[in-house]
Amino acid sequence: NQKIDELTRALRQRIRTEGALRESQRHLRELMEAQKRFVNDAAHELRAPLTSLQGNLEVLLSFPHMPEAERQEALRDAVHEARRLSRLVNDMLALARGDAGAALQLAPVRLDRVLREVVESAQGLVRQHRLSLGPLDEALVRGDGDRLGQLVLQLLENAVKYTPPGGSIAAGVRRVDEEAELRVVDTGIGIAPEDLPHVFERFWRADRARVRGEDPGGTGLGLSIARWIVEQHGGRIWLESELGEGTTAVVRLPLSDAAGA
Ligand code: ADP
Repeated sequence: NQKIDELTRALRQRIRTEGALRESQRHLRELMEAQKRFVNDAAHELRAPLTSLQGNLEVLLSFPHMPEAERQEALRDAVHEARRLSRLVNDMLALARGDAGAALQLAPVRLDRVLREVVESAQGLVRQHRLSLGPLDEALVRGDGDRLGQLVLQLLENAVKYTPPGGSIAAGVRRVDEEAELRVVDTGIGIAPEDLPHVFERFWRADRARVRGEDPGGTGLGLSIARWIVEQHGGRIWLESELGEGTTAVVRLPLSDAAGA
């Protein structure tokens, strides 16, 4: 009887180990798939500005005597595409650092102060919009000040990018249910309900954002980076939006009392 007991135990143990092994193999496969998809999407996104940059430079090289106005235009286009490439590469690097598990420097940070500082230093960003700041509840979180600043700036930049000049943007921090809540509210173009589930996907951009006569030049990576930062802080991020009415970005982070932090 004892022998049978031992055998059963050993068998159970083995089944558990194999189950865990299969689970981690599946996880690894998923990670590799995601990585492959990212490289594929990245190459695709880099190709368009590269092709255009190359085209402009070749035209400049082939027609040294073209009219000055055209020459200027080709040069301007080339610089525009080079800037876009550089934005893409920067955003990709930021995400790759996250994938590689770059550690954050966590310390007690006042989220309300981060917001105020970013707004003060980003006045140039909102020249064509009405920006209001508040409420600014005292909200202490355990976080990485630089990353949180990057997060706030990203949400403000999106609000500006997707709100026509003259529109309003409001940003504030409140304490809600033991959490710090950051809200960035805009009166911009909004997001269609069917698009909303995709906004945090890497490289995803609404068709409207892509085809607008004057492309605001997004990379489709901003919100992926924002979500990474929020998750590293044990928080949540989501967008609420009404097409044509505006969008609200909400971030919730756990509050930390000074003693516990
Ligand atoms: P992008 O660099 O294109 O702005 P993001 O990852 O920051 O990329 O955002 C993904 C897409 O979500 C945007 O292309 C846009 O379609 C939509 N979006 C994000 N923020 C807003 C906003 N405040 N108002 C309207 N649409 C938004």
